[in-house]
Formats: sequence, structure tokens, C-alpha cells
Amino acid sequence: MKDFQISKFYTYFDLTNSQNHPDLVDQNRVEGIAFIPQIQETAQRILDPLCEIYGKLTVTSFFRGETLNKRVGGHPRSRHTMGLAGDITRRNLSDFQATRIAIVLLKLGIKFHKFILEKHDHKTWIHISTGTNLKRLLLYSGGVYVRKEIKIF
Ligand SMILES: [Zn+2]
Repeated sequence: MKDFQISKFYTYFDLTNSQNHPDLVDQNRVEGIAFIPQIQETAQRILDPLCEIYGKLTVTSFFRGETLNKRVGGHPRSRHTMGLAGDITRRNLSDFQATRIAIVLLKLGIKFHKFILEKHDHKTWIHISTGTNLKRLLLYSGGVYVRKEIKIF
């Protein structure tokens, strides 16, 4: 399969990759073909505007077909399996920066389902999902989800 540009900042291969499971990447890219419209919509509407501000953000996980999702222990109905969620990070992502990113999304009026600052195994990333306009903010740390509120005046 040949790679192609799916949004201003990302290619299809960027959003169907798996660093930890290279043996499943080819299959994941085949499974992703059915979800190209969703992958593209999520990348263009949520990731690209953030990249305009922060530069190209590192995507650690985006589309995960059933096989890859099972391997990583994802929820069976994870929005990653529908091309409706992405995990992003940048160098030394702090709580402050993550909060700034959430504020940017809210200020730009970008619809999103959940924004989760996830911390696990000394790694920190942001899970952003779409498909609704719930705009729920959560912190996941120590295996527990905590709901957060940001008030914008
Ligand atoms: Zn995620």
C-alpha cells in the first residue's frame, strides 16, 4: 500500500501506525481503509488546528483495527476502532500544556467527545475522541479517571 496525505499535517500511515506492534501495522492499514472518511474528518477537524498552533504533534495511536485494538488491550468499542480517536503527545508534555491544549479546543469551538490526559508507565499523552459534542475533560492516572472542569470566561 502507498502512503497518502490524509490531512494537512498527517499521512494515512501516520494515523494507522503502531510503534509497539510493527507486525500488525500492515493489517491495520488494510482494516483502516473502511474508516478513511472518519480518520480524515477527525484529523482535519481536531488535529490540524492544534498543529497550526503547536507544530506537528506526535501521534502515538490513532486508528486501531480490531486486531491491533485487541493486542493493545483497548476497549472493544474504543473510538480508536472507528477512526474517531487519537492519542497525541509532545516533548515533556506537562499538565499545564495539556490544559492549554484543552482550552484551545474549547476556545476554537471544536466539537469533541472526550479529552483525557492519560498517565501510565511514566508516559503522558492526550486521548481525544470525537463523534459527539460531550466535551468531557478527564485525567487518567494511577488507573483511575477523574473528571475535570475548565471554566472559560
Ligand atoms: Zn486513546
